Amino acid sequence: MLYTSTRRKLNPITATKAILQGISSEGGLFVPTKLPKMDFTVDELSKWSYQEIAYRVMRLFFDEIQDEDLKYCINHAYDEKFDTKEIAPLVHTKTGHFLELFHGPTIAFKDMALSILPYLMLTSKRYNGEEKDIVILTATSGDTGKAALEGFANVAGTKIIVFFPQDGVSEVQKQQMLTTEGENTCVIGVRGNFDDCQSTVKEIFQDQVFAEELSSKNYKFSSANSINVGRLVPQVAYYFAAYGKMLRDGKVVAGEAMNVVVPTGNFGNILAAYYAKEMGLPIGKLICASNSNKVLFDFFESGTYDRNRPFFLTESPSMDILISSNLERLLYHISGEDTELVSDMMTALKEEGKYAVTDKMREGLKDFYGGYADDVKTKAYIKKVYEEEGYLMDTHTAVAYAVYDDYLKETKDETPTVIVSTASPYKFTHSVMTALDSKYEEIGDFKLLEEMHHLIKGDMPKAMDQIETRKIWHKEVCDVSQMKEMVRKFLV
Ligand SMILES: *Cc1c(COP(=O)(O)O)cnc(C)c1O
Repeated sequence: MLYTSTRRKLNPITATKAILQGISSEGGLFVPTKLPKMDFTVDELSKWSYQEIAYRVMRLFFDEIQDEDLKYCINHAYDEKFDTKEIAPLVHTKTGHFLELFHGPTIAFKDMALSILPYLMLTSKRYNGEEKDIVILTATSGDTGKAALEGFANVAGTKIIVFFPQDGVSEVQKQQMLTTEGENTCVIGVRGNFDDCQSTVKEIFQDQVFAEELSSKNYKFSSANSINVGRLVPQVAYYFAAYGKMLRDGKVVAGEAMNVVVPTGNFGNILAAYYAKEMGLPIGKLICASNSNKVLFDFFESGTYDRNRPFFLTESPSMDILISSNLERLLYHISGEDTELVSDMMTALKEEGKYAVTDKMREGLKDFYGGYADDVKTKAYIKKVYEEEGYLMDTHTAVAYAVYDDYLKETKDETPTVIVSTASPYKFTHSVMTALDSKYEEIGDFKLLEEMHHLIKGDMPKAMDQIETRKIWHKEVCDVSQMKEMVRKFLV
């Protein structure tokens, strides 16, 4: 299994090289030269542990990594850091099947991939005789940052630098990041939005002169954003796990299609579902849920991707994105691997802020359905589902639920459907509690943790323990134009 770029025909490289490098030198994303097919049955899925499923899926993408090494990575990633042995439990309520991806150390779905990425990275280093320190450079809309910090803090031979939009993350998210310990960590607030952070990080990656300067100091950049295949591939596994559980619980019969609804920002999570489907997992529709930043909804409606529009800060901040990086991989696949076309589209996106897909490519989008929900609607669903079904959703999951309800009304499609639940409600306490009752309006995130605890059974997640009083280690804030300088300052 080898990897090539979405923007250029190059000599394919190995998975471990793609993981180390993060992004191709001309700015393209690494993609498998051919998507593998599942070589096991859905009945087997219903019997296997999460770790076994992850192994059976990931080995198809990373066949270069020896079995015992891959198992080592998986067993160290999906261990007691997660608060349930199931790792990704499927919870059935009256109206929904929720795939809960928030049982890891930072209580959002980014843990599913970022708890394993450091192990894959170290394995890749070893396989390639890479002796330089790996510098993980990451832009975050809130959740990736903390999950990456959690994964890489104190990992020998790595450093991690995280940029986040200073005013674009929740109070809890910010506190989680700023209180990270570890000599090798650096967290910086940026006066700008997530797209500014992400674009600048991509530019820093492509800056060859800077790369050489750092190389001479024994550093090599890599990425923990979902542009890294080492993050994408582990995410494919939980769709297989979800199907196994739907089967185990009698919600589908073997081979019957299952739809998925995914609250989407950078398009990584839903792309993983698309990969699972292409590999042969019986997935029907891929329902892509957006908040008011509904650039993807408009794209699925019209075939034109247009980021020229106002940017909204919403109550589902991890989806406040106008440039969904991983869509580039989908464009590559549905264009028949036309690197020139993808490259032109990405240039148009950079220069004019938009591009349109061809009619042929639109064919390839037929299994996707786009929908969106604004904050008012999202919060109404949090209240409704809590009151009617006793299940408390976070704002991101609620966007997905709202879009699913619209989809049902519009299509009457009764295919069993899994709603991907990407964050614990504890991570967005203010938004969730005010959705239930406006009396919480004046109370901050931290004060509402206990109030929320009264509503939810079970222990409060460890991630929230004493969160308010932890020591702040990171205090730096910068402009977008200063980001590169901040990197230099931390490293030398
Ligand atoms: C990152 C994130 C998303 C968006 O996922 P993508 O893979 O970027 O589309 C949705 N919800 C939460 C809670 C997230 O952290």
